[in-house]
Amino acid sequence: MYFERLARSLPELRQEIAGACARAGRADADDIVIVAVAKGHPVEAILAAHAHGLRIIGESRVAEGEEKRRALEHFPLQWHLVGHLQRNKVRRALAAFHLLQSVDSVRLAKEIEKEAAKIGRRVDVLAEVNASGEATKFGIPPEDGLRVVSEIARRDALRVLGVMAMAPLTRDERVLRSVFRKARECFERCRDGVPAFEARHLSMGMTNDYTIAVEEGATMVRLGTALFGERGERGERGEHDD
Ligand SMILES: *Cc1c(COP(=O)(O)O)cnc(C)c1O
Repeated sequence: MYFERLARSLPELRQEIAGACARAGRADADDIVIVAVAKGHPVEAILAAHAHGLRIIGESRVAEGEEKRRALEHFPLQWHLVGHLQRNKVRRALAAFHLLQSVDSVRLAKEIEKEAAKIGRRVDVLAEVNASGEATKFGIPPEDGLRVVSEIARRDALRVLGVMAMAPLTRDERVLRSVFRKARECFERCRDGVPAFEARHLSMGMTNDYTIAVEEGATMVRLGTALFGERGERGERGEHDD
C-alpha cells in the first residue's frame, strides 16, 4: 500500500517543488532534499520510501527512531531527529540518528558535546529557530540566533550544518511567508557572521506549507502526510519527545 501511494505522491511532490522553484527563480530544484518523515507510520512505509529512492528518514521521537532503525539496520538510510530532544535522551539520540535537526539551546549543545566526547564522535546538527515566536514552540528566538548559534558552533564536537524552522499551523500565506523569511534571515546572518557555521541546509516546509517554504529559500523539506498519508494514533503528538 505504501509503495503504490508513494508511486503517486512522490512525482507529484517533486513537480510541486519544481514549480515553486520556477516561481522563485531558483535553478536548484533537484538539489532540494526531501526528508521522509515517517513518525506514526510503520517500518513498511520506510521500506517503500527506500524503494522509491528516498534515503533520509525523519523521526520525531527517539524511541520510535531507535526501534525502526534497529529493524532496518542493513538499509543505507540517513536518520534525522526532527522533534524536540530532551537532554536525558541525548546519548540514545546520538546512537540512533545521523543528524539532529532540533538543537535549540546551548544547554542541549553542551550535553551533546559531553556525550559525543565519550564516543569520540563529531555530531551533525541544525539549529532550530522559533521563527513564529509562538510560546508553545521550541527553538531559538531569531533575534538571539547569531549569539546562540555561535555559542553552539564553537563547540568542536558539534558541526552546525544549518537552520531548521517550523511554521505555525495556519493556511494564511502571509503569516507563513513572514515566518519562513525570518528563518532564512537567521540562516543568512549565521552564514555571514559565524565562522564555524556550515550553511548547507535550511530545513523548512512540511506537508501544508512546503511550496511556500521552497519559494522562500528552503533547501530541505520535511514531508510526512504528503508522502505517506495520514498518521495513526502514535504519530499525533507532534514535536514532543516523551
Ligand atoms: C511531523 C513533522 C513533520 C512532517 O509533518 P507533515 O505535516 O505530516 O508533513 C515535519 N517536521 C517536523 C518537525 C514534524 O514533527
